[in-house]
Amino acid sequence: MKVVALAGGTGAAKFLRGLAKALDPASLTIVGNTGDDLEVWGLSISPDLDTVMYTLAGLIDESKGWGLASETFHCREAMAALGRPTFFALGDKDLATHVRRTEALRAGHPLSRVTDDLRRSLGVRSRILPMSDDRVRTRVRTPDGWLDFQEFFVRDRCEPDVVDVAYEGADRARAAPGVIETLLEADLVLICPSNPVSSVGPILAVSGVRSALVETRGRVVAVSPIIGDAPVSGPAGKMMRAKGLEVSPLGVARAYEGWLDALVVDGRDASLTSALGARDVRAIVTDIVMGSADREVALARAVLEAVS
Ligand code: GDP
Repeated sequence: MKVVALAGGTGAAKFLRGLAKALDPASLTIVGNTGDDLEVWGLSISPDLDTVMYTLAGLIDESKGWGLASETFHCREAMAALGRPTFFALGDKDLATHVRRTEALRAGHPLSRVTDDLRRSLGVRSRILPMSDDRVRTRVRTPDGWLDFQEFFVRDRCEPDVVDVAYEGADRARAAPGVIETLLEADLVLICPSNPVSSVGPILAVSGVRSALVETRGRVVAVSPIIGDAPVSGPAGKMMRAKGLEVSPLGVARAYEGWLDALVVDGRDASLTSALGARDVRAIVTDIVMGSADREVALARAVLEAVS
């Protein structure tokens, strides 16, 4: 069975780690968000691709949910002494990934090529494709003006009110090689429990992705990042409201309207089954909180069983 997963960072990575244990990881292709990519100290950083890659490689710092375990931050301290911005923390070992990526991009290689080289070097068996080799930047509009995504997310700790979210460059961005073909040929397309606006939204904004989701011969199943009227974590609630979406699994279904076949919701949202059905979306009800490695695998298995 060929499976494709659209993925952001932290929520996606936990689900994908379970999935990679519940099926043959070589049969899984991950399409990652690059809308929250940025440049730091002259280096090209792809936070969501790295979070997924480090998690699947067993190298992620579990307590932070980003970066490498057992990291040191000497370079960051030295940069602070030079008066450079340090809100986006990069660990010393992690820097090797960003130096290598930047070196390859400057030599003219596309992001998809260097991402594939990096994941192979770290022993990750699932293919990881960036959504696009072209530059897309998610921007967040607050009452005080537009912010780069990481200024909002990391520097300002998601505190500002959100008025709008835009995907700069997405209208001109072409899907990376393999993205559309893999979606069309998949038996199953999974939308990870990721922020529908800042993680999945940029992927959907890349030309050709939405129509591939409509046309794919595989079933399309999303795992809700929302339980009740709140996200499990992070700013998905305020971002969904800014986009006119109800903060509930129904709002998630609306964000994926036109191509979503099934939505995996928590037991606490079982009562939404008929409302989802009225929107032609089948509800798959299970425990969707991934509080442990066992729960990650259990959720992945529950999803695979429900669609088999
Ligand atoms: P980000 O780029 O780090 O924000 O990564 P994602 O968008 O992939 O992950 C954030 C989303 O994951 C949030 O909207 C959370 O509600 C969701 N999330 C985090 N942990 C869990 C979990 O255990 N279960 C579910 N269903 N969603 C989760």
